[in-house]
Amino acid sequence: MGARRSSGARRWFAGASVALALVVAAPAALTAGDQPLVLPNVLPSRTLRVPILMYHRIDRARPGEPAMTRSLTVSLADFTAQVRWLHAHRYHAITQLQLFEALEQGAALPSRPVMITFDDGYADILPAATVLHGLSMPATAYVITDRIGSKAGFLSWAQLRELEVLGFDIGSHTVDHMSLPTLSDSQIHHELGHSRAILEHRLGHPVQWFCYPAGRFNDRVVAAVRAAGYVLATTTVGGVEQSAEHPLRLRRVRVSHALGVGGLAGLLGA
Ligand SMILES: [Zn+2]
Repeated sequence: MGARRSSGARRWFAGASVALALVVAAPAALTAGDQPLVLPNVLPSRTLRVPILMYHRIDRARPGEPAMTRSLTVSLADFTAQVRWLHAHRYHAITQLQLFEALEQGAALPSRPVMITFDDGYADILPAATVLHGLSMPATAYVITDRIGSKAGFLSWAQLRELEVLGFDIGSHTVDHMSLPTLSDSQIHHELGHSRAILEHRLGHPVQWFCYPAGRFNDRVVAAVRAAGYVLATTTVGGVEQSAEHPLRLRRVRVSHALGVGGLAGLLGA
């Protein structure tokens, strides 16, 4: 009995030192209990109605700015009215992990699920994050890693951690925001792999959520996104039905400058 216990103890020590060696050698992302997610080899055939809202900037419109910038900018007042409307109409904002588990594993979702996403990593989404936090609504920021903390108007690493505290998921929007179908295989590999690696290193956990720059993708790009270890990816293809067979081609609802509350309600079919 005593011998068995002591050999058990030795096994534990041996196991512990192997585990310790792995922890020391591995990047911060691979600590115990925070293992990367894996897509099933055979993707299930279910579809779920989950509107994924696509925002970019949350700011006031400025005179003289390009029409494109203007159309991507929603005022904080309009944004607040929209999310309060969602909250009042019993929509439940969900995380990326909730969507992944519902699509690929059949986990239950709350009633009227909705996902709220922000592209490009503009720093002006911080006040919006505070509004969402006050309503207990999680959201996602897709960030361009070369712009983090290096270009005016974009989120810093400290602000990304602040967003996580407020309930945000952080996803990759590549290194440089290039149109992926125009790139070589090795360039695509860099845009996908390096952005994921640096996010995981700086945030200390797996980052497996992706968003195609300018919504540009093709079959080659989708295969590369899967090979790079991402398990969900959002497009700019319109729609509210998500397919478990296409977790890397999620559809979204574009929320543009002039949409307002009535426009959003209309897009959600309310
Ligand atoms: Zn973008």
